[in-house]
Order: sequence, then structure tokens, then C-alpha cells
Amino acid sequence: MPRFLLKLSGEALGGDSGFGIEPAVMDAICEQIASVHQTGVELAIVLGGGNLFRGQALAADGLERVAGDRMGMLATVMNGIALRDYLIRREIQADLFSAFQIAGMAQPYQRDDVLQSLAAGRVAILTGGTGNPYFTTDTAACLRGIELQVDAILKATNVDGVYNADPKQDPDAIKYNEVTYDEVLAKELGVMDLTAIVLCKEQNMPLVVFAMQQPDNLQRIVRGEAVGTRVVA
Ligand code: UDP
Repeated sequence: MPRFLLKLSGEALGGDSGFGIEPAVMDAICEQIASVHQTGVELAIVLGGGNLFRGQALAADGLERVAGDRMGMLATVMNGIALRDYLIRREIQADLFSAFQIAGMAQPYQRDDVLQSLAAGRVAILTGGTGNPYFTTDTAACLRGIELQVDAILKATNVDGVYNADPKQDPDAIKYNEVTYDEVLAKELGVMDLTAIVLCKEQNMPLVVFAMQQPDNLQRIVRGEAVGTRVVA
């Protein structure tokens, strides 16, 4: 069965405000997950936490960075609890994993347990980032995608792909259909943080950057259609 890792940022769950959890947005996300899941595709999902807390922002307000990052990692677990609940209400079975022990609420992340969960037709929600401060959930998504040997990492963003300039600032910005990791690094294209990019490049892991707002995008990517931007080694 094809296997994909979907990375959803916390902001994506918060809708237009980017904060908290927006029920209509969660419903729309679950609709897309359901349409892919029912085709038998194995889907693991790494969640961000930026809609609740980010370590860097908390550190700018004076909190110690490690404390802020712990709050950020816990925020991803809260998002995971919510996503699992939304999925289960749609009768999509889902397991919640955390990179750190949080007994009673999430299973400890173990690669083999996740593979078993996927093989059993369940959606695996992976939270807690890497479990370490100073990392991002983009890096966690790449790490987990590589460990789980997925066909590609699918990064959902608010923009419909990777551009040669910020499309919000520059109306002439051009979207790439395909770009290499070397180009991303050389041109400093804002795809993901450096750690995540280098990890994917080294392990030859394809990445698709796309907008989740288009209701059938996830399904189209899984069918093999060219959507968004494909980043390759
Ligand atoms: N975080 C962390 N280690 C990780 C992943 C995340 O410390 O491996 C913390 C970090 O503070 C980060 C926050 O969790 O700002 C939320 O993650 P992220 O900013 O990646 O979420 P997103 O932008 O995808 O919503």
C-alpha cells in the first residue's frame, strides 16, 4: 500500500486567525483525510503546535527556551488529541503517539508500533515533535517520514507551493512545479528549516509542498497528480 506522511502546521488548524482550533477547518481537514484513507492509503500525520505555543516566541517574551519548547511540544499533543477526536467521530480509527511519555493520553512513539497501526488501516497521529528542544515539527515530519519509509512527505501550507520569491509580497513571483533540495538551499527558498531540508536531501526523500485549502488536493497528490511543488534530491 502507498504510505504518506502528512505534515499539518498548528496554524493550519487555526483557520484564518492561525490561533486555537477552528471546528470548520478541522472538519475540512478530516474530510480530505477521510477521502484518502478510504482508498486504503497508509497515512501518518505529524502535527505542529504553532497555533498554541512556539518556543522561540515564548523565549522572546523572556521564558527560558527549553521551557518554551516543552510547551510547544505539549501543544502538538493537544492538537493531536483534537484531531483524533474529530477523526473518530467520523468513524476513522486513529492512534495517537507522542515522542515523549504522556501516559494515559498517547502511546509512546515506537516506529514498529506505528507501522503496525498503519498496516491495521488506522491513521497514526504523531505528536511531540522529535521530543527534543531546538527542533521543529517540520524536522520531526522528515525524521518520521524517513523512519517509516513513506513514499513522500506532504507538507500542507497556506501557499500553493514553493515560489522564487514571497508571492504575498511580489506579484511576479513564479511557482516551481519541481525544484531540487540543492536549489532550495542555494536560493534560500523558504520551504522548511535547514535541518529538515538537509535530512530529506541526504535520505533522498521526496517532499510535496501544497495548499490544503483546495478540497481535493490531498487526494490528487496521492493519486500521483502534479499538485503544488515537488522537492526532490
Ligand atoms: N518543538 C520542539 N521540538 C520539536 C518540535 C517542536 O521543541 O522537535 C517546539 C518548538 O517550540 C516549536 C513548537 O514545538 O516552536 C511547535 O512546533 P512548530 O513551531 O514546528 O509548529 P508549526 O509551526 O508546524 O505549527
